[in-house]
Amino acid sequence: MKYDILIRGGEVIDPSQSLRATRDVAICGTQIVAVDQNLDESQADTVVDARGQIVVPGLIDLHAHVYTHSPFGLDADPLCPAGGVTTILDAGSAGSYNFGAFRRETIDRAETQIFGLVNLSCIGLIAANFGELLDRRYADPDGVVRVIEEHSDVAVGVKIRAGKHIIGEGETGWANFHDAVRAARESNTWLMVHIGESPMSIPEMLAHLEPGDCITHCFKGGSTRVLDDADRVYQEVVEASNRGVIFDVGHGFGSMKWEVVEAAIEQGFEPTTISTDLHTMNIHGPVYDMPTTMSKFLMLGVTLERVIEMSTTRPAKILNQEGELGTLRVGSVADVAVLERQEGKFVFTDSYEETRIGDELLIASTTVRRGRIVPGGGGLRMRHWADAE
Ligand SMILES: [Zn+2]
Repeated sequence: MKYDILIRGGEVIDPSQSLRATRDVAICGTQIVAVDQNLDESQADTVVDARGQIVVPGLIDLHAHVYTHSPFGLDADPLCPAGGVTTILDAGSAGSYNFGAFRRETIDRAETQIFGLVNLSCIGLIAANFGELLDRRYADPDGVVRVIEEHSDVAVGVKIRAGKHIIGEGETGWANFHDAVRAARESNTWLMVHIGESPMSIPEMLAHLEPGDCITHCFKGGSTRVLDDADRVYQEVVEASNRGVIFDVGHGFGSMKWEVVEAAIEQGFEPTTISTDLHTMNIHGPVYDMPTTMSKFLMLGVTLERVIEMSTTRPAKILNQEGELGTLRVGSVADVAVLERQEGKFVFTDSYEETRIGDELLIASTTVRRGRIVPGGGGLRMRHWADAE
């Protein structure tokens, strides 16, 4: 059999098949056609030497911002391969007024597979300094439902940024929150709730969330935390996680605090998914990219297999793409990330300018998107060597 690409001799980690072993991965066209030992490299047009590296499904970032008409929006195609990311979920940069434009101008033109959540606010994230739901007239649950129906192949759910400077307090805050829940139910999709300095507590919000709904920024500090005043993970949080509510990292520049994540993990509470919340204001730190964010969880004691699962198989399932994405199964889409595991001393910074030193750093060395090796892979994080010395 002829192959277009053969990724040779890497340690393949594919949680969707409970596979961790040295394997070759062969690609023909846009599909994975073989995952096996000692495939014949003379049959391949291009050979990627992955010996000493790990080979995983293309990473899926469940929270980022790639609508470039928003002040937060990054350009997905140059961004994603640098971090081994082949699929990205834009977390509500556009609302009912501008999702169509987001689709035409960005989603349909990108090499990267982009899905989107539709913001409850009809204007989406069109201003950086102005809460998109401070005026209740911007809340448009019916518009969200209509847009999801119209763009059901790419619009996969609903987003609300539930900070009090965005949704307001008291009755106004709750009215916005309930509108977002209603939009998710009526569109038969799911709701991602950004917790900020929220006007309600996480247990109060969880009472309205169903399995498949999601809390993002789950390890933020400040007033709205997954921990109670005694730093115990709320029982309601544990129960919600057990019943299938998703707890997503959404690192960002305000949403990951070492003490919170350390306390949670110590108490056995792990996130469901790892995501970056990459946007224009955190790409140059403290977030950088998916592999850096994943490396922070390795440092915190989450196993490599789980970190990979949280960044591939689990987000694929949430996006209803299991079997196609987030897997290296034969017949699935040829999205692959080859990751180097650098050992040394690396400075990792949370969203509150506190640092920790880790001894391992993942770096995307090669990214394959839909059977094509895309340029721009890896190496950016080498700066940490110098920082740590
Ligand atoms: Zn975000």
